[in-house]
Amino acid sequence: MPTEQVTTASAELFARACAVTPGGVNSPVRAFAAVGGTPRFIASADGCRLTDADGNRYIDLVCSWGPMILGHAHPAVVEAVSAAAAGGLSFGAPTEAETHLAAEIIDRVAPVQKLRLVNSGTEATMTAIRLARGATGRAKIIKFAGCYHGHVDALLADAGSGVATLGLPASPGVTGASAADTLVLPYNDLDAVADAFARYGDEIAAVITEASPGNMGVVPPAPGFNAGLRRLTAEHGALLILDEVMTGFRVSRAGWYGLDPVEADLFTFGKVMSGGLPAAAFGGSAEVMERLAPLGPVYQAGTLSGNPVAVAAGLATLRAADADVYTALDANADRLAGLLSDAFTTAGVAHQIPRAGNMLSVFFTEEPVTDFAAARASQTFRYAPFFHALLQAGVYPPCSAFEAWFVSAALDDAAFDQIAEALPAAAAAAARVEQP
Ligand SMILES: *Cc1c(COP(=O)(O)O)cnc(C)c1O
Repeated sequence: MPTEQVTTASAELFARACAVTPGGVNSPVRAFAAVGGTPRFIASADGCRLTDADGNRYIDLVCSWGPMILGHAHPAVVEAVSAAAAGGLSFGAPTEAETHLAAEIIDRVAPVQKLRLVNSGTEATMTAIRLARGATGRAKIIKFAGCYHGHVDALLADAGSGVATLGLPASPGVTGASAADTLVLPYNDLDAVADAFARYGDEIAAVITEASPGNMGVVPPAPGFNAGLRRLTAEHGALLILDEVMTGFRVSRAGWYGLDPVEADLFTFGKVMSGGLPAAAFGGSAEVMERLAPLGPVYQAGTLSGNPVAVAAGLATLRAADADVYTALDANADRLAGLLSDAFTTAGVAHQIPRAGNMLSVFFTEEPVTDFAAARASQTFRYAPFFHALLQAGVYPPCSAFEAWFVSAALDDAAFDQIAEALPAAAAAAARVEQP
């Protein structure tokens, strides 16, 4: 038996954090609410490994919820950030590097002609729907159950990620007025979208969807789903917003667009494009984007938008993310999925390991998961014992069955050996647990 992991330092830091911060965390999913136990306080990270406050080391399969495709403290990124920081942290005036980052993104995603930088994915989707409403003069938005687009009031209804993990139907504080123009439809159901357009066609400003959802677990679009959304929105004069905050620059050089090239009017980006610092973006056709201030009437702004340190991290990350990195990410995801599947099969536990490029997740069910209802119907009670067995063995998976697993290109053979060694006992724990 391995010796019991010591977590006294994390437990003590968590208690102190809880005294000054609601729930002890600055983003709810970090609190381990769905799996229980002590959230690990991270002291540092390098490559594919995290080190917690007690000195425990973990193979990182969360990657800061997606951004760290190169692994942690990548030398080129650290050097770029250090150099930028030494030159001053913020000016409130334009810098050349912002143009380089926009050009890098425009070069990767063909339908994006103009791009604006913001500070978080939430801000990107919030502004994208404002812009869609401003451009069409219409109010209603279609979103899909289980998709998460940040904590924008109008987009929190039936959301994925932490909202799903905590089982919240909706959030108090979101007024009826701000949710009234949001139509929530089941994911992967084009007929439901067609029906909504038949009823409300000339009131719908936009359809927003995760390009390939990762916030209800990984639930990829059925073949032709995004193309069907493109067709229906175009027929009815509405805009299509593909939210690539998670998939962008992770699942391919061009994100989900590189795997399923549907020409949306607007795209939103975050996570990978800022290399772990706070920055995000939205972009699209010049015609739509030029409705933004200062050229057009739709207002949007940000004191720290285009921050030079965040831009340096993003640019260094994207420039280092060459074909070899994407090949490694795909190979690492294949290897991880294979190990998971073997372990569950051996343990005799029903499972699905859906994939969206190099993103994957784990559902305990016999049935393929194609929407949020199916994700919620899976045996999520099996996830907590599975999670804790891995954590004990020095492997750090996402702390919720409704989150994607993220590989980095930095995973090495030693990491995979450790994962392979940890999985049989974890899969057995998942198989053994009784339904509560
Ligand atoms: C993470 C995420 C967001 C929100 O981004 P934040 O930077 O956390 O505000 C929006 N959309 C999708 C698809 C995401 O995965």
